[in-house]
Amino acid sequence: MAVKHHGALTERVCAHSDVFSYHYRNKSGLRSDLNYARATLCGACGQKVKDWLAFQGKGFHKLELPKLQGRTPGLISWGNRVRIERLRTLGPLMSHLQASSDPLATVVLKVLELMFQVPCASYWVDVEKQNYSWYSLQGDVALLLRGSKCRDNPQRSPSAVGFWMEARPVVAQEAIAFVRDNLKASIAAHVPSAPEKASA
Ligand SMILES: [Zn+2]
Repeated sequence: MAVKHHGALTERVCAHSDVFSYHYRNKSGLRSDLNYARATLCGACGQKVKDWLAFQGKGFHKLELPKLQGRTPGLISWGNRVRIERLRTLGPLMSHLQASSDPLATVVLKVLELMFQVPCASYWVDVEKQNYSWYSLQGDVALLLRGSKCRDNPQRSPSAVGFWMEARPVVAQEAIAFVRDNLKASIAAHVPSAPEKASA
């Protein structure tokens, strides 16, 4: 069967609607595209997350880092090295996000706080090996907004929210409830400006 293509205005997980491109062969493919679209950020919000991750500046964000646990001392020191490197680049971003009045910035900050609470060395090794990128961050932001995993938008293993959903669901649920009760409505009301370039 031929692949069908069409674009349709679709409400995304941030409650903004934008034109999503559907590519599907049959009804179940269409349904899975629709689930994916509803579980992911609109182009404008996705672009903001991407731009934030590229932020370079000065700043310091105070964090309590848990002692890393791992199967071997080598794994623990590898995890520690990755965590320090990430803290060096993400610390300034976190202080920038904290000063922002954009509710989406607070969701991103929550994701990063969850990440730095992860006490598992192998998680941090995965952050490096599988490269936790802007794409991973968008996925984590979408996951916090949605509040549960989506089969049609699986998160890769260095997902910070996904880590807590597995390891200690209560930690993930607390963050999800915070986002739902304090941020979702203002994100929805925050009309995004058109993105400069379409998101991938
Ligand atoms: Zn949006």
